[in-house]
Amino acid sequence: AEVVGGDDKEVVLDYFNNTGFQRWKKIYGNSTEDVNRVQLDIRLGHAETVESTLRMLRDGGPLAGVTVCDAGCGTGSLAIPLAREGAIVSASDISAAMVAEAQRQAKEAFGNGTDNPFVKMPKFEVRDLESLEGKYDTVVCLDVLIHYPQGKAEGMIGHLASLAERRLVLSFAPKTFYYELLKRVGELFPGPSKATRAYLHAERDIERALEKVGWRVRRRGLITTQFYFANLIEAVPLGLA
Ligand code: SAM
Repeated sequence: AEVVGGDDKEVVLDYFNNTGFQRWKKIYGNSTEDVNRVQLDIRLGHAETVESTLRMLRDGGPLAGVTVCDAGCGTGSLAIPLAREGAIVSASDISAAMVAEAQRQAKEAFGNGTDNPFVKMPKFEVRDLESLEGKYDTVVCLDVLIHYPQGKAEGMIGHLASLAERRLVLSFAPKTFYYELLKRVGELFPGPSKATRAYLHAERDIERALEKVGWRVRRRGLITTQFYFANLIEAVPLGLA
């Protein structure tokens, strides 16, 4: 991928408030209008990541009353189903456009949250990962690490782990597919669509970053479709079964 000059974070922020917002809102949505084959394929892969995450979380027991931090929540693809199961969700994203869309979809799903006493409307906030604070039973961060180079990802994983009491679920694009992915992306998008740099991560590096802060990987999964690749891992503090 091309290196887009300037500070990565500024580029990412601008992208996800503008063209990236439009693109990803479409991919994560459910309309088939104006969605190409590649986008549909990515939609399926991402939906599988969300489903696998929900399964992982449910395996730890019912989600009702469990506090979850959804870091980099996008349009609320995970936050909304979690809330539907009674989890107490704090969802945030660096992009105000994403947060507004997530909020809109949550309102659409739950009304004003008053009709079902079991569902607690997620609390949405515009916030970057770095400024997250507090303690949550569970912290989830799906498909966000692609915006973090390995050096920064390591610090971010430590930070996310420090917010979690019981478990941390992360998904990231595996480095193994790097060249193939680049090749395919290059073939399919010869135009100027690479608005942000993509950082892929070796599973071992992510695991090492977790171990450094006293966490270990309990479960792992791999989700692949033709154009979507994600490693999904669940980590727990060392000493916790
Ligand atoms: N986690 C969501 C999901 O799986 O549906 C969204 C994934 S989307 C590919 C990546 C999201 O990360 C975007 O919504 C983007 O705004 C957000 N993001 C990127 N860098 C971030 C940062 N430093 N802090 C918070 N959010 C960030």
